[in-house]
Amino acid sequence: MHSYVYGELEVVQLLAFADNYLYLISSDSRQTWTAIDPGDAGVIEQALEQLGGRLTRILATHHHVDHVGGIAKLKDLFGAKVYGPQNCKKDCRVGISSLDKDSSELEDHRIRLLEVPGHTACHVAYYFAEHSCVFVGDALFAMGCGRLFTGTMENLHASVQNLLSLPEKTQVFCAHEYTLRNFEFAESLGRLSPEQKARKNRVLTLRKDELPTVPFLVADEKATSPFYTSSLAKFKECRLLRDIF
Ligand code: ZN
Ligand code: FE
Repeated sequence: MHSYVYGELEVVQLLAFADNYLYLISSDSRQTWTAIDPGDAGVIEQALEQLGGRLTRILATHHHVDHVGGIAKLKDLFGAKVYGPQNCKKDCRVGISSLDKDSSELEDHRIRLLEVPGHTACHVAYYFAEHSCVFVGDALFAMGCGRLFTGTMENLHASVQNLLSLPEKTQVFCAHEYTLRNFEFAESLGRLSPEQKARKNRVLTLRKDELPTVPFLVADEKATSPFYTSSLAKFKECRLLRDIF
């Protein structure tokens, strides 16, 4: 369990399954919590026992089971309100409130909803502009992005570009620890740039101690990711090569 503090916003990062990150966030000194992409209810329950406080809200980024698998149980246990793209309903087996763009319901956190389709046709990210963090699910990874399932390549490219147009100091909280593998892929494309090498060394140091390489900065991603390109053709080539890597 790792905790990051940005003003009154606390982000707790939890590991689930092999390489998933689930998040609990609080902006009222751990009285109430919002879970993001709780694929495993047990992990959240256990964390809440340690942290104290109540789970009042659940946010889903997209409908894949490693992101929504724990929602039905958590809703039962805590009566938390669930938000996410409408097509999550079937997989979550619970009612979902859709967030409107102004997200007035989430006012206390001042969350901005970003639509980032591609990995799935409906995929959202939750942006805390005031605290410079964004929760992106599988839309963006360090040195990578989620593969194409039900969206289009154009969607995927635009979503990566959009997320990386956020302020450079934005901390990106993605849902998987794929960074080292993504560096191996980057190396397969050619020699690493000095910036890439420097980042890889930082990543290796963290992973040696099994520490997360997430969150990461938009600035670092722009400086090093092979997926950061304005060219759709280049992006597509990169994505297709990554699929078979
Ligand atoms: Zn996914
Ligand atoms: Fe996932």
